[in-house]
Amino acid sequence: MADYKELWKSLDIDLEKHDKLCAVLPEFYEDIYLSQENRPDGMNYFNFVVSEIHGLRIKELADFKEKGGKVFGSFCVFVPDEIVFAADGIGVGLCGGSDFWVPDGEKELPRNTCPLIKASVGARISNTCPYFSSADMLVGETTCDGKKKAWEILGEYTPMHVMDLPQMKREKDYKHWKEELEIFKDKVEKMTGNKVTKDKLQESIKMINDKRKALQRLYDLRKNEKLPISGKDALLITQIAFYDDPKRFTEKVNELCDELEERVKNEVNVFNDDTKRILVTGTPQAVPNWKMHDIIETSGGAVVCEETCIGTRYFTNTVNEDCNSLDEQLKELSNRYMGINCACFTPNDGRIDDIKRLYKEYNAEGVIYYSLPFCNTYAIEYKRVKEELDKEGIPVIMIETDYSNQDVGQIKTRLEAFFEMLEN
Ligand code: SF4
Ligand code: SF4
Repeated sequence: MADYKELWKSLDIDLEKHDKLCAVLPEFYEDIYLSQENRPDGMNYFNFVVSEIHGLRIKELADFKEKGGKVFGSFCVFVPDEIVFAADGIGVGLCGGSDFWVPDGEKELPRNTCPLIKASVGARISNTCPYFSSADMLVGETTCDGKKKAWEILGEYTPMHVMDLPQMKREKDYKHWKEELEIFKDKVEKMTGNKVTKDKLQESIKMINDKRKALQRLYDLRKNEKLPISGKDALLITQIAFYDDPKRFTEKVNELCDELEERVKNEVNVFNDDTKRILVTGTPQAVPNWKMHDIIETSGGAVVCEETCIGTRYFTNTVNEDCNSLDEQLKELSNRYMGINCACFTPNDGRIDDIKRLYKEYNAEGVIYYSLPFCNTYAIEYKRVKEELDKEGIPVIMIETDYSNQDVGQIKTRLEAFFEMLEN
């Protein structure tokens, strides 16, 4: 990586602490990613993005800001990037996926808070994440109690806007979410000084639709009997989708998909034929949280799909591009986002239907229900999901784990037993 010290200094990064964070990532990445055999050449771009994770993209954001551009940081797939880009802003995902930030998060939050929230707050208050430092505004949502309270802490550091996400899906809730989009649009316009016009929104809807379509294309390739790409690599790509330049990202994913299509034709399989095909469902895996996928794929399984926010929930359903007015566009956007099946909704039958559908579409042989500790909505929803999957004879196991490595051996043992049971 080039020398970005001056850039980081200008962002008020704690350089000493940041060096410690940067020192662990290459070895960690080498062990989990670069050690994989038979990776597609198209992964080189994504390796490069990771090697420059706090470099090149941060420099791009700094150059953009120097010209007066505004950066919006978000934490949830409900925040509509389309509106940000339509006002010539840039949206970046900020969820924390590293154990490194958890102790700092625990200085402000109770220990029994989900690690994603602790890491996100820790990243901000420790001044070790240049994405946080680049954001002119943070955009939160009222999805879970921990996040709602975390916004109050983060708001002490960076201007914060909170979107009030309804927790049911009645007609009035759709209307309410559209109103929230309108309020958000006004806020973004004020911050950027740019109007969100019908034409601008049309352009950004198309751009984000294209990104979602490229990811859908990648995921479709994972439906093949011979897997042209590992689950770990697919997860990494979706994680990168949250902060890379959207047009470049789409182009690179499509290039990779061309290569994967060739691999499918040539029956290339990155796993042994007897590897168990696994659908992962549950809480998000923010970068660099690769723990669950790494355990699965070194224990006899291959992840073929993620029913998570760093998976299908991020790209399923595009926004109707055929609208006659700004109001209609906002309505279509609202409909698309309200179609996401997060456990913060009640009832949330749509998620159960999704899990069953994806299990079949991806020819999975078992489901791993992944939950971060202290995430009540997902942990409680497991009961209903399991009951429904049992009715269909779909094997499922719940794994609750944080970002630390203490329980890796124990999870491996449980998964090996689960995979063995899938044989029978
Ligand atoms: S799990 Fe729910 S709250 Fe978390 S990112 Fe996804 S949609 Fe948002
Ligand atoms: S994983 Fe659960 S507790 Fe953590 S931020 Fe998401 S919804 Fe909230």
